[in-house]
Amino acid sequence: MAQSSVLGYPRIGANREWKKALEAFWAGKLEEHDLQQELKEIRVQHWRKQLEAGIDVIPVNDFSYYDQVLDTATMFGIIPKRFQYEGGRVPLSLYYGIARGTTDAAASEMTKWFNTNYHYIVPELQGVEPVITENKPLAAYREAKAELGIEGRPVIIGPLTFLKLSKGYEPSEVDHWLARLLPLYVHILRELEEEGVKWVQVDEPALVTSLDEADIQRLQTIYSTFAKQVPGLKLMLQTYFESVERYEEIIQLPVAGIGLDLVHGYAGNIEAIRSYGFPQDKVLGAGVVDGRGIWRSSLQAKVSLLEQLSQIVADDKLIIQTSCSLLHVPVTVQQEDKLPSELQAALAFADEKLEELTLLKKAVTSGGANAIAVELDRCEQALQNLQRSDARNRLETLQAVAAVSAQNPSRNLPFVERHPLQQQRWQLPLLPTTTIGSFPQSVDVRKARQRWRKGEWNQAQYEAFIREQIDVWIQLQEEIGLDVLVHGEFERTDMVEFFGEKLAGFAFTKFGWVQSYGSRCVKPPVIYGDVEFEEAMTVKETSYAQSKTNRPVKGMLTGPITIMNWSFVREDIPREKIAYQLAYALRQEVEALEGAGIGMIQVDEPAVREGLPLKLKEQAEYLDWAVKAFRMTTCTVKDTTQIHTHMCYCEFHDMIISIQAMDADVISIETSRSHGELIHSFEVHTYPLGIGLGVYDIHSPRVPRVEEMTSMIERALRVLDPKLFWINPDCGLKTRGMDETVAALRNMVQATRIARDAHAVQV
Ligand code: GLN
Ligand code: ZN
Repeated sequence: MAQSSVLGYPRIGANREWKKALEAFWAGKLEEHDLQQELKEIRVQHWRKQLEAGIDVIPVNDFSYYDQVLDTATMFGIIPKRFQYEGGRVPLSLYYGIARGTTDAAASEMTKWFNTNYHYIVPELQGVEPVITENKPLAAYREAKAELGIEGRPVIIGPLTFLKLSKGYEPSEVDHWLARLLPLYVHILRELEEEGVKWVQVDEPALVTSLDEADIQRLQTIYSTFAKQVPGLKLMLQTYFESVERYEEIIQLPVAGIGLDLVHGYAGNIEAIRSYGFPQDKVLGAGVVDGRGIWRSSLQAKVSLLEQLSQIVADDKLIIQTSCSLLHVPVTVQQEDKLPSELQAALAFADEKLEELTLLKKAVTSGGANAIAVELDRCEQALQNLQRSDARNRLETLQAVAAVSAQNPSRNLPFVERHPLQQQRWQLPLLPTTTIGSFPQSVDVRKARQRWRKGEWNQAQYEAFIREQIDVWIQLQEEIGLDVLVHGEFERTDMVEFFGEKLAGFAFTKFGWVQSYGSRCVKPPVIYGDVEFEEAMTVKETSYAQSKTNRPVKGMLTGPITIMNWSFVREDIPREKIAYQLAYALRQEVEALEGAGIGMIQVDEPAVREGLPLKLKEQAEYLDWAVKAFRMTTCTVKDTTQIHTHMCYCEFHDMIISIQAMDADVISIETSRSHGELIHSFEVHTYPLGIGLGVYDIHSPRVPRVEEMTSMIERALRVLDPKLFWINPDCGLKTRGMDETVAALRNMVQATRIARDAHAVQV
């Protein structure tokens, strides 16, 4: 008989109990023993929920004290040298030290988990001697069994994926590292086998990314070793986020089951199943319920998909499961009571997805769709209601967007021709100085916002407060000697939420938190309807700031792609269309700013790279429409209006061509963390538009010295044209303190003066 399964459950808790416990522990307000106790309660509660929802195969070891990749690394004793680890069990202080840094050693790097917004800690292999420090999956298995009598399915990250996510070794050393890790994996698995564990879920999401011949061979080595050394254990080779590459070879691997993502990898995986079949002797983990989207599944569509699959695999070889871990969705819709009803009814977070799995299993095992007729009707009704709602049928806007996106958006003049006109208008000095937008959000700023949100302050009081902040910072910026000023973004908590709240088509949940990294959770807005511009969003503050100074004040917007990539979005239309709707709405804001006399407008796109598809062959298309959306947002302004953009904290060196195609007059792009690479890419291909590389790292409270910044500037000017180069910090200053910010900016201006003197003669 078919079974149901979940690949992982969110660890943060419905009220972010997990986050709160971790942070209390870090702050010294919770003893280690109490932390252990609290986290155990959360874990057990999550298992109980899944048990009560009727899930057959429940994951264990999906829980973490911070991050599952860090767990795997510490389990194998992979601790960066600088932490001076001397063997034995890894204490919690060391575990958190790696993640967050200690006074003596810098934290390990973190980076995005495939194409999600979850960030993992990057294992560093350099110079380490892997050893087993503890068997985490075994401990989790025992705990679930002891507490609730659950026969859990331990989850581990597979060796190929683990190696691909690690750093600190040369490409030629992969096999060496594999040979060192494999025995440790065998040891862990053997102990599980001896314990009587039946199934283990081996996560190998790397199988959906490009694989070469050597990878295929590695997979054969890995899984035939496991088959030989731990023959009593059944392995579910689990993939997700896309369709698997090299399907025909992967299905030959000696494992008992293969898990496929039939949501995000639907087309590719289904086609592969049709072309190559599915081995009779293996279990198919059919990932039909979206593990990372927030929408209800169409039960009708899923039942019919499962019916097709049951033609291919036997009943007892089918597991109906989530497409990936539920880590990427909020916990429950239950607590939401302020959402539009047609939206609320169409949502399914983690707990609602458990129900879907159980319903689908019921349909598959007891006579098809009829077995769940009532629920199926209710579900289809909810989806239809949302589809028919006014929010999804704003016809005028849809027509306007269609018309605008049928054109090729382009500035009136090319950069080489508009640049001199802009120079004439602005009369900026060589190496103009500016900042990225936000200034420190002090306790006072946050308190003010709370007062206003709670109704203790009325609109006028709050606005007066914001104006005072702007006054202070306009004066400071003038005094520091910056050339292009900003208003400071004091009215914004979050650069996406701020715009989402003011545009039609968005909704905000109360408790829709998901883990972003460590204890940091984000609550992405939901784009559920057609996006529409309603009224000017930034003109008031920007014009006010401009009225206080003769220097130019840059308007500050978040770009269409960033808004989209940091939101949960509707799935009834392609992402490309959502991007164009956003672009069209933001264009109206750009025009409103220009109409109010603002002549420099920055459209931030820090997240432009985050939407990049995992499959190489799909990337160009994404970049094309992402660039187009940016151009659509910015192309209608006058020749003398200067468009800026900003990008940060991603590897951009492989997409400079696309960035250039965005045709912004000035880009500030972060490099202080990946300095070498980006500068190097400008050696190969210089950048012919205005550019600032970020002369200091805003993530540290340390005030950079003048000489550090002059040397950064000099380095950049070896490959970039001084006439097009801008001087700025590498990101917004929101998280910094006032004093250090002022000191750092003063040094930055000083460094600029030195560089100007050095380069004035050459220009
Ligand atoms: N303008 C934004 C700020 O300065 C940009 C933030 C970002 O790049 N993430 O805060
Ligand atoms: Zn930034």
